[in-house]
Amino acid sequence: MTESKKGLVVAIDGPSGAGKSTIARMLAQRLGYIYIDTGAMYRAIGWKAKRERIDPADEAALAGLCSRTEVSIKKDNSDPRFYVDGLDVSGEIRTPEMGMMASAVSRSPAVRSRLLELQRELGRQGGVVMDGRDIGTVVFPDAQVKFYLDASPEERGKRRYLELKEKGMAVDLARITSEIRERDHQDSMRAIAPLKKADDAVLIDATSLSIQQVLDRMLADIGKVK
Ligand code: C5P
Repeated sequence: MTESKKGLVVAIDGPSGAGKSTIARMLAQRLGYIYIDTGAMYRAIGWKAKRERIDPADEAALAGLCSRTEVSIKKDNSDPRFYVDGLDVSGEIRTPEMGMMASAVSRSPAVRSRLLELQRELGRQGGVVMDGRDIGTVVFPDAQVKFYLDASPEERGKRRYLELKEKGMAVDLARITSEIRERDHQDSMRAIAPLKKADDAVLIDATSLSIQQVLDRMLADIGKVK
């Protein structure tokens, strides 16, 4: 496989709470690549839809919203910050409610095509680790490296619970786990770009693996391609 001047495109897909963003961020740091969190883009659109009281099932309203909304990313010292029309929403989009909103608006063809364009533009030159649900299947089907990171729903619920609790949010484990199951269902059953493993993606079940073990496994695979 050929590597662009800036590096490879590394795609990481998988269901909610499997640890994609933590791993993708660390991997990007190790490789000197840019980390692109595509879930945050759907959350940003969901955030604005909520603010404008738009029904996520109203396709025409969502198409209108997309045409007048600017989603941008700025790299801070460490984590990238997400902006909607110039307003920093990085913290607000992280709530479980915004996760559900993101999943609801992500069914919309207008939302998907708008974000697809942005994601392809950001990854065009390579040197990126991009995580999401459809990176290896739709956004970059020719990515040189693809992973599908999975874990049991119970383990994912637990991880998401601890992550949100650490941020000081009042969360309930049973509720988080059931929302994760609901989102999995919604994301895998939708008509456009559903969550699914690309045929050529490497499946990693992280249920009983540490972050370091997943990272080592990925670095070993990337080493074979580079
Ligand atoms: O990864 P995160 O939990 O932030 O994603 C929020 C939601 O955005 C997902 O549940 C999914 O519905 C949607 N999404 C998507 N395609 C992506 C990334 C996220 O549909 N590439």
